[in-house]
Amino acid sequence: MNAVTYDTRRRAFMVEAGAQLMDVYKKLYHGWGVTLPGGTSATVGMGGHIAGGGYGALSRAFGLAADHLYAVEVVVVDAAGRARAVVATRERTDPRRDLWWAHTGGGGGNFGVVTRYWFRSPDAPRHCFDPSRLLPRPPGDILAGMVGFPREGMDRASYRRLIRNHGRWHEHHSDAHSPYAGLYSGLVFYGRPQTGDPGPAANCYAYMDGTRPDAERLLRDYLRAVADGVGGSPQTSEISSMPWIAAAEYLAGAQDSDVGRHKLKSAYLRRGHNDAQADILYTYLNSTGNRHDFANVTFQSYGGRINTVADGATAAPHRDSVIKAIYMNTWQDPDADPAAVDWLRRLYRDLFATTGGVPVPGRRDTDGCYINYPDIDMADPRWNTSQVPWHRLYYKDAYPRLQRIKAAWDPRDVFSHTLSVKAGPAR
Ligand SMILES: Cc1cc2nc3c(=O)[nH]c(=O)nc-3n(C[C@H](O)[C@H](O)[C@H](O)COP(=O)(O)OP(=O)(O)OC[C@H]3O[C@@H](n4cnc5c(N)ncnc54)[C@H](O)[C@@H]3O)c2cc1C
Repeated sequence: MNAVTYDTRRRAFMVEAGAQLMDVYKKLYHGWGVTLPGGTSATVGMGGHIAGGGYGALSRAFGLAADHLYAVEVVVVDAAGRARAVVATRERTDPRRDLWWAHTGGGGGNFGVVTRYWFRSPDAPRHCFDPSRLLPRPPGDILAGMVGFPREGMDRASYRRLIRNHGRWHEHHSDAHSPYAGLYSGLVFYGRPQTGDPGPAANCYAYMDGTRPDAERLLRDYLRAVADGVGGSPQTSEISSMPWIAAAEYLAGAQDSDVGRHKLKSAYLRRGHNDAQADILYTYLNSTGNRHDFANVTFQSYGGRINTVADGATAAPHRDSVIKAIYMNTWQDPDADPAAVDWLRRLYRDLFATTGGVPVPGRRDTDGCYINYPDIDMADPRWNTSQVPWHRLYYKDAYPRLQRIKAAWDPRDVFSHTLSVKAGPAR
């Protein structure tokens, strides 16, 4: 089920739930010149991705992919155990509107089996029948640049400086009207491998909408600001230019290359990590005693248009962060599972030690976690000692409404997993 078509009756693009992101991007772009601001991986499926929110390289410019959801078809199971397909839309008059809302960030595997999504931007012109005006149009040209930080010379002070530079920059350049709303960047710190070439300590890659005024200068200024005063010998690449779809494919190639066994954690950051947290990253990422093949911590640009969506308008509640942080460990040998998982758990616990081992929502610096990077440790009192329940980290104030929708649409709790929405009293 991977079709992508334009549905004239609903005046919206229909995408079946089994479609994978790159296929969706290519069909939308080559067919109508439009896109969705979704994830940067080629192989992620629409089924879970949209239900959990979905963000990527164009999100600072256009918001989350789920912000453009117009309708969803879901196979639900009623109290008698009968399955049926229903369509729920964004229309204010739709009695099933709540079920649509639950799929704008409420997470996969909760309410039923999604079979189709329809997309039309909420600000698309009314009564417009031209499909090319109903979803965002990606930039015609993308500029790409990078600054690399070789491990040699990257001491503790350099980690602090780099993380501070990056955090402060995002705190000041992440509103929707900033000329930098067209920028997407990842600052990636790499773990030191157990053996062989230690590889770089970090890279900061950046993509900029090349059609914005002064784009190349803006991009160079960004890379310079990130590397400013960092020790060692940061190496800045030439700026290159490419069509948007080529940039999307390039990014996906990098994302999808690190296959293996994974453990992944996330945090929404309103500010960059502080010096004490930078020290923790320095220690963990430079120790050689860990059973991992590829550990990394990535700070991805967030904010921009994402943060213009009103609280409660969607089920994706994190609307004032400027960085999405990903903490990941990848390895191949199943025997290494306990050690590799434990390493990442300890890193994360230590980073957020002052708030019970988790990025508690609503604080000056942190705002919870991303349900599309689900982590069962958030529901485990050994790793979450904050007294803040897992669902608050993922859903904040959206959870009680999600619980009501769950009770109405999945009364038998057919769709259930460790982090699924629970219909009863919050636990
Ligand atoms: C390599 C990689 C890169 C990623 N990059 C990004 C990124 O750039 N941006 C981003 O936002 N996220 C990213 N993600 C996370 C991604 O959004 C989630 O993993 C998402 O849930 C994937 O959806 P899926 O359908 O492929 O996955 P699955 O693993 O099949 O499903 C995930 C969850 O959704 C449920 N689900 C799946 N299909 C349906 C359906 N049809 N109906 C109801 N529930 C369903 C499942 O039950 C499960 O609970 C990435 C993940 C990976 C593995």
